[in-house]
Amino acid sequence: MNKKNVLSVKNLNKIYSKNRLKSIHALKNLNLEVNEGEIFGLLGPNGAGKSTFINILAGTTIKTSGDVNVLGFNLDKNPRQVKASIGIVPQEVNVDPFFSPRKLLELQAGLYGIKKKDRITDTILKLVSLENQANSYTRSLSGGMKRRLLVAKALVHQPPIIILDEPTAGVDVELRNNLWKNVKSLNKQGVTIILTTHYLAEAEEMCDRIGILNKGNLVALDSTINLLKRIQTKIVTLVVNEKVNIENQSLNSLNVIDNKPGQLIVSYEKSKLNIEELINYINKQNIKILDISTDDGNLEDVFVRLTKN
Ligand code: ADP
Ligand code: MG
Repeated sequence: MNKKNVLSVKNLNKIYSKNRLKSIHALKNLNLEVNEGEIFGLLGPNGAGKSTFINILAGTTIKTSGDVNVLGFNLDKNPRQVKASIGIVPQEVNVDPFFSPRKLLELQAGLYGIKKKDRITDTILKLVSLENQANSYTRSLSGGMKRRLLVAKALVHQPPIIILDEPTAGVDVELRNNLWKNVKSLNKQGVTIILTTHYLAEAEEMCDRIGILNKGNLVALDSTINLLKRIQTKIVTLVVNEKVNIENQSLNSLNVIDNKPGQLIVSYEKSKLNIEELINYINKQNIKILDISTDDGNLEDVFVRLTKN
C-alpha cells in the first residue's frame, strides 16, 4: 500500500555564493519524500545543510534549483499555500521580549488572516504549558518557555505539517522531554512532523524514518528500524573463571578488545559469527562463563560509518 506523501523534494540544490570565487554547495541534489502522519528526522552534523533545507521550506532561503511540493502545492507556483500548510519552529529563538505570549500568538494569527472567532490561542497556550505565563512579558520567560512559545507560534494557523529545526539544541533534559511529549501528542492528532537534530539518540527515539545529511549529501534514507538493522557490530563482554586463549580472527570476524583473567571483551560482525560459536570455543577450553552481556550498538555506529569520508 502506498502512503500519501505530504512533502516531495526533487533534485534540490542550494549554492550560497559569497563572490565569484567562493561558493558553498549546501544541498546537493536532494531527493526525499515525507509521508502523511509520520515523524521524519533529518539528522546530520553541524554544517550538513539541515537549516538550509528547513529555511527553503519556510521561504526564508531561496533554492538554487530543484522542485519542492507540499501537499501538492509547488513552492514556486503556490508559495502562499505552501506557507499555510507548514508551521516552522526555527533554530534561533527570536521573539519580541515586550509582548506577552498571548499577544504574540494573537499577532501571529493576524498575520495569517485568522478571524478572531477562529483563533485557538488558549488551546495552544495550554498545549505548550504556558497558560500561566499567558500575560507575562516574554522577556521574563525561561529559555525553555521561550522555545515552547516558538512551538506555539508555529501552531497558530493549525498547519498539517510542523517542522522543528534543532528544537532541543542546548536545552535541559526536562524541557527536552516536555517538548517531545508535546510533539508526540501533536503527531497523534494527525500532524506530520519533520525535525532536524544532530543528536542520534533523539532521532532514534522519536522518528519513524530518518534521513542522514552530510555536507549537503543525503547519505541514508530509511526507516529507523532498518537503519538499526544495518548495524553489524556486536560487542560481547564475558566474565570467565580463567584467561581465555583467544586472538583476533580465532573465529570469523572476531576482534579481541580486552582479554585478561576473569574478563574477555570481543566484537564481531553479526552476519559472520553467531554467539553460540563463541561460547563453544570458550567451553572447549574447559573455561566457565559466569556472566555474559552484549551491546547491540546504536545509530551512532551507522552515522559514524555513513558520514566518514
Ligand atoms: P546545519 O543546519 O546542518 O548545521 P546549515 O544549513 O546551517 O547547516 O549550513 C550548511 C552550509 O551552508 C554550511 O557550510 C554553512 O556555513 C553554509 N551557510 C549557511 N547559511 C549560509 C548563508 N546565509 N550564507 C553563506 N553560507 C551559508
Ligand atoms: Mg542548523
